[in-house]
Amino acid sequence: MAGTTYDVIVVGAGPGGYVAAIRAAQLGLKVAVVEREHLGGICLNWGCIPTKALLRSAEVFHLMQRAGEFGLSAENLGYDLDAVVKRSRGVAKQLSSGVGHLLKKNKVDVVMGEATVPAKGKVSVKTDKGVQDLTANNIVLATGARARELPGLEADGDLVWSYKHALVPPRMPNKLLVIGSGAIGIEFASFFNTLGAEVTVVEVLDRVLPVEDEEISAFARKAFVKQGMTIMEKSMVKQLDRGKGKVTAHIETGGKVEKHTFDTVISAVGIVGNVEGLGLEELGVTLDRTHVVVDEYCRTGVDGLYAIGDIAGAPWLAHKASHEGVMVAELIAGQHAHPVRPESIAGCTYCHPQVASVGYTEAKAKALGHDVKVGKFPFIGNGKAIALGEPEGLVKTVFDAGTGELLGAHMVGAEVTELIQGYVVGRQLETTEADLMQTVFPHPTLSEMMHESVLDAWGRAIHF
Ligand SMILES: Cc1cc2nc3c(=O)[nH]c(=O)nc-3n(C[C@H](O)[C@H](O)[C@H](O)COP(=O)(O)OP(=O)(O)OC[C@H]3O[C@@H](n4cnc5c(N)ncnc54)[C@H](O)[C@@H]3O)c2cc1C
Repeated sequence: MAGTTYDVIVVGAGPGGYVAAIRAAQLGLKVAVVEREHLGGICLNWGCIPTKALLRSAEVFHLMQRAGEFGLSAENLGYDLDAVVKRSRGVAKQLSSGVGHLLKKNKVDVVMGEATVPAKGKVSVKTDKGVQDLTANNIVLATGARARELPGLEADGDLVWSYKHALVPPRMPNKLLVIGSGAIGIEFASFFNTLGAEVTVVEVLDRVLPVEDEEISAFARKAFVKQGMTIMEKSMVKQLDRGKGKVTAHIETGGKVEKHTFDTVISAVGIVGNVEGLGLEELGVTLDRTHVVVDEYCRTGVDGLYAIGDIAGAPWLAHKASHEGVMVAELIAGQHAHPVRPESIAGCTYCHPQVASVGYTEAKAKALGHDVKVGKFPFIGNGKAIALGEPEGLVKTVFDAGTGELLGAHMVGAEVTELIQGYVVGRQLETTEADLMQTVFPHPTLSEMMHESVLDAWGRAIHF
């Protein structure tokens, strides 16, 4: 290691931390990143990437089951869960070691160990070889988050799984209960359902994927039920009785408790920030439940101490963490930094069908006082969707009726997680309906539905 004094020390090498470290190094700063477990954080090792690898296997399996529709034949279809998981772990490993190469290439010192921040400008790292004390003018906390555990619903790795257990499942569930219908819960529900498990999803709120636009939630729900899932909304798992090879869940709906038996439960009831043990209270950092309170520039209020990514609160998304990492590095380097606008960060769920959105839902836009114009376009009206054999889906856009500002976009259907970025760019450029209507979309593509949805908001859709 080159020395123990740095311009910037980043604690945590997830998508927030490693990106902050690389950007700071690009700007000529001397940087160290401290990581206790794995380069790439939850995202690359236990989150975004391995889940998408699993879901890809499920998607291919699903398509193979539909081979006949495409004039193909595929017989004796099956899967080897261990091989599916092995592929997912391999993808995660490949990307995690890629982060190591990137940090090395950018001359960032990597210190493997558990960090604490004993005083302003100081980081103490418990490594395999003893404690290493580092100093820096700027410290960036990027320690991420972990699964929330509710009393009585704690994961045990056998009958009740956290997302980590579900990523390396000890067996294929037959009857699976998923508690929580946010992105993580629904992705696992979709994966195991596609592979043949009987899946029940319990959601305490009144709809699945509750942060999404109501119409999109309802559309996705219908598709999940058609695929065989049982969805229980406004319901709460009160108790889990763990027996031999089975769990009896006490599920309350409308004041009535019913008992249902499963062989596996996945608890996906949210996440909590890794704020403990760092010495934050002693430093005078303000915490709000399990996240660090920061301003729009991710400053904690303690001079030279920043917090980015999941530890700094919602939305708990890798791209938000990375963007904050870049912003903080540029701020420290004295550049003009660009704060993140939360309402311009897209959220994607890679279930089947996929769901993606950016900006305000129709209800939120109205609640904020906007007079809205709403456009919709169904996948059934799009040539490419039909050619792909993916005629089910919806693209919905929400505009301010007066100014034409694109307030929000909401999609469900094939590949919408790739399409949404078009609207994200639109929002970033403060696009209005006129710009979007005049844009020429390539044909035949799914993106044409994005155009048509905008046209529909002004009663001009051509193909529906
Ligand atoms: C199953 C699952 C699927 C997900 N899918 C998506 C998705 O599709 N898209 C998306 O945008 N987001 C997804 N997420 C969320 C995403 O993973 C997180 O938002 C993202 O990883 C946050 O990045 P981060 O850098 O803030 O923290 P993390 O990725 O959690 O990294 C924090 C790092 O800090 C280290 N650390 C913690 N404390 C210390 C310490 N004291 N000393 C040293 N090191 C420490 C940890 O070991 C970890 O490596 C998913 C999450 C899960 C669980």
